[in-house]
Amino acid sequence: TGSAAMAVSQAIPITRHPFANGSYKQMLIDGKWVDAASGKRFETHNPATGELLATVAEGDKEDIDRAVAAARRAFEGPWSKVKPFERQNLLLRLADLVEKNFDELSQLDTLDMGAPLSRTRAYRLRAVGMLRYYAGQTTAIHGETIENSLPGEIFSYTLKEPIGVVGAIIPWNGPLTATIWKIGPAIATGCTVVLKPAEEAPLTSLRIAELAMEAGIPPGVVNVVPGYGETAGAALAAHPDVDKVAFTGSHVTGQSIIRASAGNLKRVSLELGGKSPDIVFADADLDAAVPGAAMAVFANSGQICSAGTRLFVEQSIYEEFVGRVAEFGKKLQVGNGLDPNVQIGPLVSEQQLERVTGYLDIGQKEGARALAGGGRVTEGALSKGFFVSPTVFAGVQDNMRIAQEEIFGPVISAIAFKDMDELVKRANNTTFGLGSGLWTRDVSKAHAVAKSLRAGSVWVNCYQAMDPAVPFGGYKMSGYGRESGKQHVEEYLNVKAVWIKTA
Ligand code: NAD
Repeated sequence: TGSAAMAVSQAIPITRHPFANGSYKQMLIDGKWVDAASGKRFETHNPATGELLATVAEGDKEDIDRAVAAARRAFEGPWSKVKPFERQNLLLRLADLVEKNFDELSQLDTLDMGAPLSRTRAYRLRAVGMLRYYAGQTTAIHGETIENSLPGEIFSYTLKEPIGVVGAIIPWNGPLTATIWKIGPAIATGCTVVLKPAEEAPLTSLRIAELAMEAGIPPGVVNVVPGYGETAGAALAAHPDVDKVAFTGSHVTGQSIIRASAGNLKRVSLELGGKSPDIVFADADLDAAVPGAAMAVFANSGQICSAGTRLFVEQSIYEEFVGRVAEFGKKLQVGNGLDPNVQIGPLVSEQQLERVTGYLDIGQKEGARALAGGGRVTEGALSKGFFVSPTVFAGVQDNMRIAQEEIFGPVISAIAFKDMDELVKRANNTTFGLGSGLWTRDVSKAHAVAKSLRAGSVWVNCYQAMDPAVPFGGYKMSGYGRESGKQHVEEYLNVKAVWIKTA
């Protein structure tokens, strides 16, 4: 489109970005920046333009071994003596540094994975607030004294102890927040961490690691080893000296993480994919529901695990509502995310582009009608990037693949419903259970449907609201464990019961 082409012409050249300037980036192990043991490197590119952003040290099993050993030494050594107030100060210092460098960090996410600045800049509160939230939790960790019923005098209490060395594996769809979501609770609880960023977008994690060093986080507490999933990721998941793996990614990889964890029965928490229902009742405020339901999918080009991709619309308003969502989608500005006016950036990679356009073909063949979008954007400068137009499929049936499988692209599958009881069954008829949404003015209906949806989050008259204090996670094949909130901190702790005979 014309507006999208204009967006490209206004983009800031990458050579001006202090971190993504085409240079070589090492990995962080034991507080030192080092090459991969193999000497290998891989490239990371801007998905909007194809430009080379950096070459990165490519870690594999040997580097994971080195990083885990460093994390173990720190965990059993000096880090174990660091008191909660000092860990809190470290997190607060890191929060200040993330805040100070936020423009650079948000631009780095935009360059490395494509999300527009209009989105990455909006994460200031979430990224900085998350670190401050974990800082607050640091001094709130405590065990309990518990009265027991044994005969005689025997006193019992619990201790909360850090679980140990954590292997963190993250995807590419929100590198800044994903990195903070993994290292924040580790520092808060006194764990140490080896983080493997996604091969598609490793740069923000490496920059955060620099800031962690600047904040004074001791060597070995935070290690970052970029590399591929089948090598570095698999080695971390299987490592016998890792106590817990915190994984975010696809359910297929999640299943292999569990299998790999069996060797030492390490703890596992999983944040996986979804096929979340977003339900619009005829009594909803449609002026709010149209943009709400559209951006529940189109934000981040649909590359959000909890995107509301199955749009259930009450039959009586179906044609009108879906038509309005399609019109909204057509007006969104697609382009290089460095233009602050752009709303929709590219998909992260060619592989992701093929996957999404493959589903566009499947949708057409299954008999769905594309009211908006339906293909790759090929005009002008955008042909160099992996852009897909926001797409709305109407006439979608529950059994179509586009209504069942996670597409991870800007694609809405709009489904009509009439009957309330049937609706809940249909909305829950998925192997996933991450997000869900509903739009209504009827408070009783809102509570009733919220209670019956089998999903970790329910958004009423909004979508995708997130806060560091509110737990997020999945039901069913969307995974287990929670991130954010008090539950998140518990995931990084062990409980020990102590018994003392006092008489
Ligand atoms: P992916 O599972 O392929 O990759 C995620 C991470 O796992 C990457 O770092 C990758 O290198 C690593 N990995 C790949 N194979 C591995 C293996 N065998 N062992 C260990 N690590 C391995 O996922 P993706 O396709 O890159 O990301 C998209 C998926 O992530 C979607 O399904 C999406 O729903 C999900 N996701 C979920 C959340 C959430 O919070 N629930 C957030 C973002 C993304």
